[in-house]
Amino acid sequence: MQDLRINVNFLKPANFFGLTSLETILESSDSQGFTAKDYDELFDSPILFSKSDIAKFKVANTEFIVGVYNEMGNPLSEHFAEIIKPKMMALKNFVGGQLPVDYYIFLFYVKDFSKLEKFLIECPDFEWGNTKKALKINREYGYSHGAVEHNNCSLFCTSAVSAEQTSFELFDFIIHEFFHIYTPKSLHSNLIHDFDYVNPKLSAHRWLYEGVTEYFTGLIKLKTGLYDVNDFLQEFLRPKIQRGTQLKKPMSFIEFSKNANKEPYRNVYFQFYARGPILAMLLDFEIMRLTRGKKTLREAFFKIWHEYKNTPLEEDEIIPLFVEEVHPDLQLFFERYIVGKEPLDIESGFRTVGIKYKKEVSQKVPLFRLSYVPLFQYICIKKVDYPDVLKTGDKIHMKDWGRRGRKPFTKPDGEFLEEGEMVEVPLIRNGEDIKVSFPAKLKGGVYQHKITVMQEMTPVQKKLFIKWVNQ
Ligand SMILES: [Zn+2]
Repeated sequence: MQDLRINVNFLKPANFFGLTSLETILESSDSQGFTAKDYDELFDSPILFSKSDIAKFKVANTEFIVGVYNEMGNPLSEHFAEIIKPKMMALKNFVGGQLPVDYYIFLFYVKDFSKLEKFLIECPDFEWGNTKKALKINREYGYSHGAVEHNNCSLFCTSAVSAEQTSFELFDFIIHEFFHIYTPKSLHSNLIHDFDYVNPKLSAHRWLYEGVTEYFTGLIKLKTGLYDVNDFLQEFLRPKIQRGTQLKKPMSFIEFSKNANKEPYRNVYFQFYARGPILAMLLDFEIMRLTRGKKTLREAFFKIWHEYKNTPLEEDEIIPLFVEEVHPDLQLFFERYIVGKEPLDIESGFRTVGIKYKKEVSQKVPLFRLSYVPLFQYICIKKVDYPDVLKTGDKIHMKDWGRRGRKPFTKPDGEFLEEGEMVEVPLIRNGEDIKVSFPAKLKGGVYQHKITVMQEMTPVQKKLFIKWVNQ
């Protein structure tokens, strides 16, 4: 049954059109029919019906189509295409100049977020009653974000108030979802190739499918200039290290992957995107260390991908391929940290490339009390303890603020500003871009997961640092 051709017909409003990677075989004003060569292809091909809001662009050999259904009605596809195109250009450079498919479709369902945004901006503060109201509106309107990857397509669900306010986090997933064409869509084990939908058996290699994919997503952003080195360390890696090392009980990533649909693993599913990329990064450092910088994870990955993109592998063939490609001692890394459950040695991993990492340091940290609401790309200020500088209603772009609001206080090497040094914050006040500054105040505290670039590196560290950030 799973191998039979399937045709599906939809009744639709006359001004709607179904966008999908499936072939259209029937089209009239009130219906549209598609054909899939088998169940797997149908399952892998979402269809988005909307009024025509489509943009197209080409990167290298690939035609991209962006299709949007927007609850607010205004067209968004051109704007989305402008955001997506530079990311695909960066990805093209990272993977060596050619992309792996002739065409690719990004589908977006955009929910109208304006009611919640209005409430968040207007409510005076977040005491419990208001928080409850915000959650109620959130539930009522079903605001949520998510993305799923497919062979020639990915489908995104997001919320927006206007083109400018579309969730920037959503666009963080663009590279990740597209990269899944490389793995697990092509480089994978036979458990994925012949996936059994009735009795699913999970592959042991999510360190590769999700870990390497997400780690490469960060490196690609570094290449596009979406991150500078400090953003990459503090905004991309640090939160992943924070979350990826918080498990009380040690776990084997292989066991986790094989049993991800069962408790207790199902409950910590997010670790694929936190611990996974950290494992991939440490694997990259180990590859550089063992080969004295002659190879990186990226080089090893693509060498293997080119050879096996059309050949599903046995479950127990994947790790040996990487070991063979790099160095016999790489086996030990897999045994200790991916098959085994030894605590990750992040400190010595980072040291390989001239980065200093400390799990916890007692030192002065910024003193700053601010109450704000995050609104997609911005935070909107509610209450502040610098009333002469920042005002209620000011909006600060997330890229200037950082995930924990420490970015304005952090120097390019990862250290905090000294007491009295000037903090600079670009912001939007009454629709105008301005910049404010104020002297930093500090207090005694603890800096967890402190990551700084070494001021003095050995020649080998310097060489590997450059190789790492420029790869
Ligand atoms: Zn993924």
